[in-house]
Amino acid sequence: MRWCSLLEVIPLATNDSLLERFTQCPVCKDDHLQTQKQFTFRKSAGNDRTAELNRIYLDLIARAPDGQATVDVSRCPACSFLFTNPRLSPADLDRKYAEIAAFDLAHRRKRGRPPHLEERRRRTTPFLLDLLPHSAASVLDYGGAEGFLLSPLIDAGHRGYVADYIDYEREDDRIRYLGQQLSEEVANRGPYDLILLLHTLEHVTHPVELLQSLGELLTPTGKIYVEVPLGAWLEWAHLREPLTHLNFFSEESVVKAAERAGLHPHHVSTDWQYVTQPEKTPCINLVAGRTPSPDFDRSAIRSGKQQMNPLHQLWPALGVNPRYYGKIALKSLLS
Ligand SMILES: [Zn+2]
Repeated sequence: MRWCSLLEVIPLATNDSLLERFTQCPVCKDDHLQTQKQFTFRKSAGNDRTAELNRIYLDLIARAPDGQATVDVSRCPACSFLFTNPRLSPADLDRKYAEIAAFDLAHRRKRGRPPHLEERRRRTTPFLLDLLPHSAASVLDYGGAEGFLLSPLIDAGHRGYVADYIDYEREDDRIRYLGQQLSEEVANRGPYDLILLLHTLEHVTHPVELLQSLGELLTPTGKIYVEVPLGAWLEWAHLREPLTHLNFFSEESVVKAAERAGLHPHHVSTDWQYVTQPEKTPCINLVAGRTPSPDFDRSAIRSGKQQMNPLHQLWPALGVNPRYYGKIALKSLLS
């Protein structure tokens, strides 16, 4: 992948850390970044995932001798993209996934299937089948873990592949694992009629470059389906650790990221839906392709400013978990 040459980055001088402080927006390259909020992360007692992620960040990535590290959330005024800064390098991401693989594998084994998988499939299957042009199409689930959403597509006669940092146990042996990231095997199995990029783009340092690399693996009429959390609403202001999500999208910034990657939006929406948590969460759904869609209505794209308003999703949120969302929306309104 062609990473850092495209970006103006300043490596932090201390402790030979690989963290990089960006002076340009990772999406649109604008250099008028604003610090929206500053967090200080410290080690905490306990062995839950949050404590473990803070420990990995402080000991192995920031290498903070005093056991604490400051991370900004930067905002790009040009495209509204919100992101943690400094950024993890690809080597930091490798280190993170190597560290949490054992933890996550054990957790998944204990948990089994994610809750509400069937309901999630009932939403995604007809939607995804509609994006496939013919039978025996090729579908890559990039960052797809067990590839749970592929099975109904394979039942309908298509082929399913997974690329992921972790080689999870799959209950469906018709799904073929192609290795980590954009391996040679991933490229050789392409081009793909459909690429799923579900809850992955919020974890990567260079979202535009990833979209561009995946776009190059599509057939000329192929589509990429991106799902990300609506991080621009409340999430960016309430981080508990700096390792999980690095990017906090709005419809505006995710569309901009796809366009910077040479893709054309065909559909964008914000919906409350099941992912892997016990409750529905607010997500942005984007379908993009290599050619423009005459039906896409740009005026329907919600702006970053609109989606950062703490009241933006409050009504549906109160129906899902009034205590949690009421509390953090109020905190955001008062800050
Ligand atoms: Zn930008």
